[in-house]
Amino acid sequence: MNPFKLARSSLASILCRSVQRQTTTIRHVSDGSGAAGTDSGPFFDLSEDQRNIVDLAEKFVREEIIPVAPKLDKTGEYPMDIVKKAWELGFVTNAIPPQYGGMGLSLLDHCLIEEKIGYGCTGIGTAISANALGQAPVILFGNEEQKKEYLGRLTAEPLICAYAVTEPGTGSDVAGVKTRAERTPDGDYILNGNKMWITNAGYANWFFVLARTNPDPKAKTSEAFTGFIVERDTPGVIIGRKEWNMGQRASDTRGITFENALVPKKNVLLKEGNGFRIAMGAFDLTRPPVAAGAVGLAQRAFDEATAYSFQRKTFGIPIAAHQAIQFILADMAIGIETSRMAYYRAAWEFDQGRRNTYWASIAKCHAGDVANKCATDAVQVFGGAGFNSEFPVEKLMRDAKIFQIYEGTAQIQRLVISREHFTLAKQKA
Ligand SMILES: Cc1cc2nc3c(=O)[nH]c(=O)nc-3n(C[C@H](O)[C@H](O)[C@H](O)COP(=O)(O)OP(=O)(O)OC[C@H]3O[C@@H](n4cnc5c(N)ncnc54)[C@H](O)[C@@H]3O)c2cc1C
Repeated sequence: MNPFKLARSSLASILCRSVQRQTTTIRHVSDGSGAAGTDSGPFFDLSEDQRNIVDLAEKFVREEIIPVAPKLDKTGEYPMDIVKKAWELGFVTNAIPPQYGGMGLSLLDHCLIEEKIGYGCTGIGTAISANALGQAPVILFGNEEQKKEYLGRLTAEPLICAYAVTEPGTGSDVAGVKTRAERTPDGDYILNGNKMWITNAGYANWFFVLARTNPDPKAKTSEAFTGFIVERDTPGVIIGRKEWNMGQRASDTRGITFENALVPKKNVLLKEGNGFRIAMGAFDLTRPPVAAGAVGLAQRAFDEATAYSFQRKTFGIPIAAHQAIQFILADMAIGIETSRMAYYRAAWEFDQGRRNTYWASIAKCHAGDVANKCATDAVQVFGGAGFNSEFPVEKLMRDAKIFQIYEGTAQIQRLVISREHFTLAKQKA
């Protein structure tokens, strides 16, 4: 039997047990004995099932991602074989509920996998995890028919989907989206406009697309936009060239043009006018895994810098013996441990069925900043070798930058956090 199919079935059985037990992942103790399931305070052990999931992800990353990541970084080749193997393991569909053929993992379980994949290569990681971003609007807001068709398609075969919101003229300001959807006499929609920086656009089978349906510039943002599922092979959907980015070069980023693309009314998510809420709501599900990927990158930078600090000698001693290097490594440890805790919390809040927007932005923002600091500091620990592409940390520094940009920039996360904070403060006042 194909070893990946075998692994997928073992992940499925792990999950089955998890669902039966309704395992929460940061559990509570009351009697100090470490027994799970009571509620006097948090502890941070992973369950046995989670350790198995992490072991499976680690093995996949060690065997399939780490050996090829430097080559794909140089060529920019899309890692289709690896995405397919990840799909076999259930890592591409882990957020999709089991009734549509997915793994139905908790968000924390999903994040644990993303951290491991991020450790291996965040370019390949983005090619895999951008699927979760495309899936999220359908998982959270799709009707039964849409879920069966579009999530079912992704679990039946290793197909890819994408989230298309950003445009050449607007990214952070989502309310500035100009792509138009006009209703036909039959109630279907005609799409016209341009999207930009869309991950996996070159390989997607379908897209989540945000378009303006109310042309009145004074219309409320919460009512002016609609979310659509758009099939890739719709006439008038034109995919642009692959963009050559600073980092994460194995991932695929492109523009998309819609020229009179006809979208059936059955592909409207929720109803006309609900698109902004859908596009933003998806981030509660996707920012924690993005944060986890950033933690994986930071951990890799830390491990590479630590190993090098033992090996490299200056002034007759390993550089690890210089306090200045020790402090750099200590700061990396502080950042990694706190950003890991942040994504645990963000995912756990979601898994408890609570609104996690505040935590998701804290996790994404902190982990993005930490990944950048750790990668830059790892280059510093390597000295001249750190600046050279034959050594591993130069790639990490290039790959890290996007974590402060995509899925909401570092500034936008701070806007979300302060908005959530003020809302809570006003409620308390
Ligand atoms: C590799 C890559 C992959 C991507 N994948 C996707 C994808 O799959 N789907 C998708 O829809 N989009 C995707 N994006 C787009 C990404 O989400 C946007 O680039 C991002 O949201 C920023 O938008 P922008 O580029 O228009 O920058 P702008 O919004 O123009 O921002 C420019 C700068 O101004 C700052 N800024 C903007 N507004 C404010 C404010 N109010 N207060 C303070 N500072 C502000 C920003 O933080 C930033 O520093 C991707 C981008 C890249 C580069």
